[in-house]
Amino acid sequence: MKKLSIIGSTGSIGTQTLEIVRESKKYEVVALACGRNIQLMERQMREFHPSFVAVAKEEDAAELRDRTRDLDIPVECGMEGLIRAAAWDTADITVTAIVGMIGVQPTLAAIEAGKDIALANKETLVTAGHLVMKAAQEKGVKILPVDSEHSAIFQCLQGNRGNEISRILLTASGGPFRGRTREELANVTVEDALKHPNWSMGQKITIDSATMVNKGLEVIEATWLFDVPPEKIEVLVQPQSIIHSAVEYTDGAVIAQLGTPDMKLPIQYALTWPERKPLSGDRLDFTKLSAITLAQPDRKTFLGLDFAYRAAAEGGILPTAMNAANEMAVAHFLAKKITFLEIYDWIAYAMDTAPKIPHPTVEEILQEEKNVEERLRARYGD
Ligand code: NAD
Ligand code: MG
Repeated sequence: MKKLSIIGSTGSIGTQTLEIVRESKKYEVVALACGRNIQLMERQMREFHPSFVAVAKEEDAAELRDRTRDLDIPVECGMEGLIRAAAWDTADITVTAIVGMIGVQPTLAAIEAGKDIALANKETLVTAGHLVMKAAQEKGVKILPVDSEHSAIFQCLQGNRGNEISRILLTASGGPFRGRTREELANVTVEDALKHPNWSMGQKITIDSATMVNKGLEVIEATWLFDVPPEKIEVLVQPQSIIHSAVEYTDGAVIAQLGTPDMKLPIQYALTWPERKPLSGDRLDFTKLSAITLAQPDRKTFLGLDFAYRAAAEGGILPTAMNAANEMAVAHFLAKKITFLEIYDWIAYAMDTAPKIPHPTVEEILQEEKNVEERLRARYGD
């Protein structure tokens, strides 16, 4: 029995991870953490009997303790609770299904405690990739990608005996606004942006897909996971989300991973690697596929990619400035306080005003997150 800690267990990735647990009966859940959805957390506690639970706020922790008195499971809160859950001593592997750079400290704590990481939480690699990869190497723990494109690349690299790869082909669906002009994006609503054509995901990543900031974050994520420079990562728009990504080797061979769009495969592969296990779900029917089309992304309209290539090239604190501004801007867009295109303005401003810190510490990364919030507030108001 592999023992799992899942931080962000009530979200899209978290609940799909628990579906795998439920289906396979090969895993034991030892710790869970979530934000504010204590109703679902209570159901998860009753079904999976973790040894420890953490939630974001003390008031929710108190209510959850009260409701689950019969279970005798400790419930804690805040960053301390989250870190305890992520690094829970009996866990073998920690699934980082939490959204945002709030995952930095718990992920590092889990690595320090010797846990392998099934990493969905890309914002942590974007902001602290240098620290995460170094700590993982020092501790001898594995960082196993859950993001579908990165899982695809990882799968394409299996069996590669250190052959140099010439390129990574990172595919993108293009999101709900593919093909639109900048003018046509001016008045799009939150509801429009939340309608992703192929994937059902949490709200933040769905908006990131619409801006293509998600693909930008994924470029940076890939530089860390696969130790390749950004110029060797090419983004291709593949609207059907069938080719999940590909690797081109130096002899010109391209190896791609294909499948129906279903996150359960990458989640499960991160848990079972290097083995593959049976998994239920739709199979790809090539006879019914009318087309797989590939095109260059429109980087002039969807600025998320250019921001990320710039951040990846400079490195240091710049990816943190980009990511922190995006998190704040997306929250404001979801609250209908700013427009879709203003998300790009906020990111650009935060990046243009970022300090130069080539090798930021955790403290400097978290400080820059706060500073970005202050700079954006001073520039654009609340
Ligand atoms: P989601 O919004 O559905 O879930 C986020 C989870 O994090 C929830 O359980 C929430 O309660 C928890 N959380 C939020 N704030 C918290 C806090 N302060 N303390 C403790 N827990 C907190 O998000 P998601 O779509 O599942 O995405 C999670 C991560 O996985 C993101 O980094 C995303 O980019 C990445 N990812 C998601 C998908 C997908 O299909 N959903 C695919 C690839 C990568
Ligand atoms: Mg992805």
